[in-house]
Parts: sequence; structure tokens; C-alpha cells
Amino acid sequence: MEIRLPENVKKIIDVLESNGYEGYAVGGCVRDSILGRRPNDWDITTSASPLQVKHLFPRTVDTGIQHGTVTVLMGKEGYEVTTYRLDGEYEDGRHPKEVLFTSSLTEDLRRRDFTINAMAYNESRGLVDVFGGREDIKNGVIRCVGEPEERFGEDALRILRAVRFSAQLGFTVEEKTAEAIRKLAANLNYISAERIQTELVKLLISPHPDYLRLAWEYGITAVILPEFDRAMETEQNNPHHCWNVGIHTLETLRNVENDKCLRLAALFHDLGKPLVRTTDEQGVDHFYGHAKVGCELASDILHRLKFDNDTIHKVKIYVNYHDVRPELTEKSVRKAVSRIGADHFSQIWKLKMADTLAQSPAWQPVKKEYLYRLDGIYQEIRKKKQCLTVKELAVNGRDLIADGMQPGKELGYMLNALLEFVLENPDCNEKETLLIRSRQIRINHPDGM
Ligand code: ATP
Ligand code: MG
Repeated sequence: MEIRLPENVKKIIDVLESNGYEGYAVGGCVRDSILGRRPNDWDITTSASPLQVKHLFPRTVDTGIQHGTVTVLMGKEGYEVTTYRLDGEYEDGRHPKEVLFTSSLTEDLRRRDFTINAMAYNESRGLVDVFGGREDIKNGVIRCVGEPEERFGEDALRILRAVRFSAQLGFTVEEKTAEAIRKLAANLNYISAERIQTELVKLLISPHPDYLRLAWEYGITAVILPEFDRAMETEQNNPHHCWNVGIHTLETLRNVENDKCLRLAALFHDLGKPLVRTTDEQGVDHFYGHAKVGCELASDILHRLKFDNDTIHKVKIYVNYHDVRPELTEKSVRKAVSRIGADHFSQIWKLKMADTLAQSPAWQPVKKEYLYRLDGIYQEIRKKKQCLTVKELAVNGRDLIADGMQPGKELGYMLNALLEFVLENPDCNEKETLLIRSRQIRINHPDGM
């Protein structure tokens, strides 16, 4: 087995070895190289202590020196070099309490989560695969190193990581590993929101975001995303739908482009449905107002998982507007786009298409036709450079002041009123016309707007 190491990685390993230490590429980069995937980053494991590593390389950063990790800088790139480690006693399902170093590569590999992540490689020794990682890669299997229950008991995040790797690689989870996951999933309660967020996002932006179903089957979502379990329990007795809310969600995830905010929005778009479901006399289910309720729910979940404000802002807008259906006229589309925000409309369109593809086949041709025509009208509006925002108006606050208006919030009301006017009359976005219009508005509303 030969792996082509990047020059910098070779150099770092060379320096370590020519000074009497061992050095290997390890973990994800070895796994990805065997799979023919491009590794995200190259981690190095070594018998040298952190201090020794710092002595050998002129430019280093103490990234996690208490865990044995020093970042070695080569040009603009940084490489994490970590001393062979045993993880010490674990508090149940939490971070290791202490870190012990070891001189044995095998011991370092033994502390790693899955066999596919527990291989090391360098040019002098070749592939070091003590736990059968290569065979598991060949068979497409996620399997714990050692006793699964013990390993998940040490660090419950591994429970979610198993599903994440399965979704990234399209692998199955080995039976004993799966059994231990089912048994210990509740331990995810002890894991910090930040660590859960990282793994959940990696799962969602993988080639198989619908493997979230596996997380549901294992009882993982019951702990980290119980709202999804409610969706799996909510039937949709309605001619537009052929699946319950949960399965429909998984299908939408599968159909939507691989973008973090879009995938999160796909996950949340219908989570409001279980809360607003009504059934009419004919026995047909309705979900009035589910987008707005879903938007609130998405906000709660995203805050709970400690997502950043930019992500929360975007996802909320996508969820809130995923069900808008403007009439197919330029005017209605202009108004809808203006209300949603031109930046978001294209993404919401993609979400709507994915949503449609996850509904009853009978209605799909009509709905797709609608969406393509909607897009056609939107493109036309863009091509004509029609004004959709206050910023694009031919007048601004300064112009209005120069025309006799007082500074203050009245200006904002006026600009919005002018935008409404221009959305109705796209050819009127000219300075003179808008100033005349603003004077008329002021005459009609002498006490302010
Ligand atoms: P990615 O491509 O997403 O970076 P990765 O396998 O490199 O995947 P990391 O989270 O970067 O995953 O971790 C690097 C390596 O450290 C893993 O391959 C694994 O060997 C080990 N590792 C990471 N997290 C854990 C954990 N919670 N328990 C045990 N070993 C872990
Ligand atoms: Mg990595």
C-alpha cells in the first residue's frame, strides 16, 4: 500500500525520523487517501514529546499543548503534530480527564474511535493497520476500535460520529457498534452543543444527508433533535403528500443542493407541521401557518445548538418563506422577492424545488412548471435591473432632505413608500418622478406617515 504524502508532510516526518523519533501521517488523511478522497488536512502522530517537536521546528504554535498537539508551520500551511497518546480515565461520556503520553504507536491507534480512522502511514514502514481498518474500508463498515460500549462510554460524541462517517462515506455501521449506539445514545446528553453542531453539520453536508434516518433509528435524534422524532410521528393525510413529515424531510434533504444553510433549512422547513396540524371533515390534514411556526422552532434549535448568528438569520428566512407562492406576474414576483430579500430568493427557490420533489408524484409536473415559470419571471426582472430594494431606488435619504424633508425615521417610511410605488410601477424609478411622488405623499399625510 503506497500513499502519496504531500511534500511538507514528508519533510516533517523526515525531520522527526532523522532525529531518532517516529513520525506518521494518521487518522482521517490515511483513511481518505485509501478511499481516493482528498484529505481535508494531514495530521501527524509522533513519539517525540511536544517540547521535542518545538525544538526540531523553527515555527510552531502551541495549539493544544496539554493534549500533546503542536502545530508546525511550513510556508503558509500548518500541520498538527501530536505526541502518541493514551487517553486517561474518562468521566462518563465526557472529555478525557487527563492525557498520558506513550511511546507506542499501537497504543495511540487504540484510543481512536473507528478502525477506518485508526491507521498510520509513513514511507519507511508503510501502512500500519493494527485493527483491520483497510478491510473495513473495503467492506464499507464503521466499526469501533475495541469494545463498542466501552468506547462510547468514554466519549459519547463517537455515537454521532459513527453516523456522520456513515453518511459521508455511504458505509454501514457494524452490528455490535450499532447495538452499543442504541444502548448508549442517551449519553449524548452530556456532550456540548458545539461538538454536536460540528458533527451534525458534517452529516448534513455529506453526500447522504438522509442518513439522518439512521440517527433516528438509533435513538440519537430523540436526544439531540427530538423535534425530528415528532416529525417522524406526524402523518400527512393530504393528496399533496405521500410520506409522513419526517420521511418527507429526509427526501427534501436528499434533493437539495449541498449548502450548509440550505440543508439546515431543508431539515427544519416542516418541523412546524406537528404543532399546527388540523384535520377537516373529509379527514384531510392541513398545516396552516406551519412555515412561521417552523421558523420559530428552527430559531430555538439553532440557538440551542449554538449556531452563529449569520447561519441562524439565513436559515430562519429560508424556513419562513419556503411556502410562498406568488402569482406568476412580474408585479407579484417583484413584491415577493422584495419582501423576502433578493439575496435569499434563489436559495429559497432551490429549497422549494427540493420540497416539491419530495411530494406526491401526481402533483409534481404542475408544481415544477410553476417553479420554472417563477424562475423565468425572476430572471427577467433581474435582466431588466428592476428595483427591488430601498438601496436600488433612484433617490436616497439625502435627496429627500435636500427636497425639504426633516431627518429622522420619517425618511425610512418615505423610502419604503416609494419602494412600494416602484414595485407597482417599475418604470417610475427616476429621481424627478420619485421626488414628485414623495411630495404628493407628504401632502396626503401632513401629520407624518
Ligand atoms: P475529517 O475528514 O472530518 O476531518 P477526521 O477523521 O480527520 O475526519 P477529526 O475529527 O479531524 O476526523 O479527527 C482526526 C482523528 O482523530 C480521527 O481520524 C480519529 O482517529 C481521531 N479522533 C477524533 N475524534 C475522536 C474521538 N471523539 N474519539 C476517538 N478518536 C477521535
Ligand atoms: Mg480531520
